[in-house]
Amino acid sequence: MTNYTLGANFERSGIGLHSGITTTVRVLPAVARTGRYFVRVDLPGMPVIPARVEAVSTTMLSTQLRAGNGENSANFSDSEVTVGTVEHLLAALAGSGVDDACIEIDGSELPLLDGSALAWVKAIQEVGIVESELPQNSSNLSPLASPMFVGEPIWVCRDDVFVAALPAPMTRFTYGIDFENPAIGNQWYSWTPEQEHFADAIAPARTFGLANQVDQLRDRGLIKGGSLENALVCGDQGWLNPPLRFSNEPVRHKLLDLVGDLSLLGKFPVAHFLAYKASHNLHIQLARLLARQIGAWDVSRQSSAVIGN
Ligand SMILES: [Zn+2]
Repeated sequence: MTNYTLGANFERSGIGLHSGITTTVRVLPAVARTGRYFVRVDLPGMPVIPARVEAVSTTMLSTQLRAGNGENSANFSDSEVTVGTVEHLLAALAGSGVDDACIEIDGSELPLLDGSALAWVKAIQEVGIVESELPQNSSNLSPLASPMFVGEPIWVCRDDVFVAALPAPMTRFTYGIDFENPAIGNQWYSWTPEQEHFADAIAPARTFGLANQVDQLRDRGLIKGGSLENALVCGDQGWLNPPLRFSNEPVRHKLLDLVGDLSLLGKFPVAHFLAYKASHNLHIQLARLLARQIGAWDVSRQSSAVIGN
């Protein structure tokens, strides 16, 4: 398997959804097998935070990562070196096929931009995608593993809410939501990367929320950077800031979040990922189960790359 990275650097700035603080993000090409990772360039020692499921610290409304015990984070307790609301940029990179990328950020939360992944995808398209260069001493490296197939269903559920990975011949993501508010209602969307571009089908879908929850979240110190410019807001009488980019924009955005959260596994395993009314928390629980299976497979060096067998 070949790994891909960016053809050149790009930079974007904006305010974070929860912090309300402006940060600048610079995304650079990285060598093969380094994966996607963040660097907190505003902190002494510039600690590195891998975009891996092992690094997830919280999943409240958005996904936050935390530095581990790496040498660069020696001056910080773990909880201080974090990066939040990572899912839209990570979805844009993974959905566009960028495996290796160094993401420098001068603060603790990614800019929300317009609430979708569109600006990130456009920036990736501007610089292009190239094959990742092999690191020095690459002659000692074993060939990249072939894609991993999920061999039997793996799922996480809570009441009627679930996220599952089912055996399938190609990677596919399906999402369902069901809201009492008739402007949203019951929506389903299915995205197959081989058949539809992430840039067209998923990236433009914006974050959404219910108007009657906005004050509640603000009181809890959240969504300080949220506005009608960067999130679709739905009131009792319908959307406060139409028009929508798709009639089913909310479910497409949930699918975008799922893609971003599962990108913490590295390359997507070959499976049909199916979610209903789920949240970042449940997405990450499934990613953790899959990561454990992938880890077990790596260690046992089985010839057939099948998760769950
Ligand atoms: Zn989102």
